[in-house]
Amino acid sequence: MSELATKCLIIGSGPAGFTAGIYTARANLNPIMVDGSQPGGQLITTTDVENFPGYPEGITGPKMMEDFRAQATRFGLLTLSGEVTEVDFSKRPFVVKVNGGGHVITADTVIISTGASARYLGLPDEQKYLGMGVSACATCDGFFFRNRPVAVVGGGDTACEEALYLAGLASKVYMIVRKDYLRASKYMQQRVMENEKIEVLFNTQTLSLFGEDMLEGAHLVSHKGSENENEFDIRVEGFFLAIGHTPNTAVFEKFVELDEMGYIKTKGSSTATNIPGVFAAGDVADPFYQQAVSAAGMGCRAALDAERFLMMNED
Ligand code: NDP
Repeated sequence: MSELATKCLIIGSGPAGFTAGIYTARANLNPIMVDGSQPGGQLITTTDVENFPGYPEGITGPKMMEDFRAQATRFGLLTLSGEVTEVDFSKRPFVVKVNGGGHVITADTVIISTGASARYLGLPDEQKYLGMGVSACATCDGFFFRNRPVAVVGGGDTACEEALYLAGLASKVYMIVRKDYLRASKYMQQRVMENEKIEVLFNTQTLSLFGEDMLEGAHLVSHKGSENENEFDIRVEGFFLAIGHTPNTAVFEKFVELDEMGYIKTKGSSTATNIPGVFAAGDVADPFYQQAVSAAGMGCRAALDAERFLMMNED
């Protein structure tokens, strides 16, 4: 077991975490980052990223995260593999335990950037087609399906937003909704129902996906009445999950104030949480935008907030 101390501990290694790492390292805070269960975060499972400024030709998600890491470590960010299993934010310095390496870290400030995980249906082939047709982000991947048929799963506001966004690109959009109604706001429902490119399949669930290497379609079942089941296929090249995200906040919930969906609450326009000295950045504190570039921006703000906090609270 090793004991480490830092002025700033960053938990999570997506765009928010690494941007916080670049800023805090350049500010001589000798930051330490704990990588988490999926080093690089959600972008590791994305193929091409074409909407992050500065990459005119686009870049793959894994390569982008490799670049983030290289830039942050060049300035002295120390990264540790493993997951945070326990935190004590009751007093400063904060104490954080990490499995794997068995590290115990004391930190004057903490930036939580653990992200949110997209929910998947749990179909046998879902992970096989990840990046080959299956996606959990229309804004990220919709462009690759221009003039192609796609499906969106879910009936909430996110699903409606994604379906409307995709309708501007794809040749046809199926919405696969398990109930006989949409849960989304009335306004979003109306926009979806009025869009000629979108066909809503109510009372329908996905049984399996098919395709050689790339996704070619989905096998569905509709329940019209309790005994009236009908199985059928749709030909789609994109299959977008929009059944919600789960913010990765479980380990912090004893101390950090969360909203009703489990996202970390931040104060006003800052990244401050309810615990002075603990900040949050990226998807873990942002249910609305959830973009690499907005997460990176919030990581920068968290780093500046932590730096100011340390200046104001120097013993
Ligand atoms: P929601 O939880 O609101 O909706 C999830 C949808 O996915 C529901 O239709 C649900 O079906 C469906 N679903 C869940 N699990 C499965 C499953 N296993 N199989 C099939 N369908 C499934 O999540 P959202 O991400 O849409 O929204 C989260 C929050 O963010 C909401 O409060 C929403 O209003 C808000 N939001 C607001 C926006 C805005 O104001 N512009 C934009 C996006 C989100 P069922 O209804 O049957 O449970």
